[in-house]
Amino acid sequence: MTSIATCHCGGTRIELPDTPTHATSCTCTFCTKSGGLWSYYPPEAPKILSDTHGAVYSVTGYNKHHFCANCGCATYGVSPDWSLGDTEVPEKLKFAINTRLLDDFDLKALVVTEIDGRNLW
Ligand SMILES: [Zn+2]
Repeated sequence: MTSIATCHCGGTRIELPDTPTHATSCTCTFCTKSGGLWSYYPPEAPKILSDTHGAVYSVTGYNKHHFCANCGCATYGVSPDWSLGDTEVPEKLKFAINTRLLDDFDLKALVVTEIDGRNLW
């Protein structure tokens, strides 16, 4: 069953192919400050239904942190799939949805894995 994620103002609406069951909480400085709680999908799986005020923040150019420039919510990210263990920048991408944007969803139902991004990269 699909699920819908929306930013606070509704400008960003994303359809996910399912309801996430797992998420990652990362301690890196970006994730800590943005408050993102991420579930991952192949980049072609989610459908971006609207991104009216969509903006992108990127420090390195590899990780694209999307957010709503109207309401300020961190919405989704697209980054190289570093989980493949490549030493070079992987060509394969992955999509990260901020699960905090899911409507009518109990965040406590997620199995959350913490990654120590602050010390890993
Ligand atoms: Zn918004």
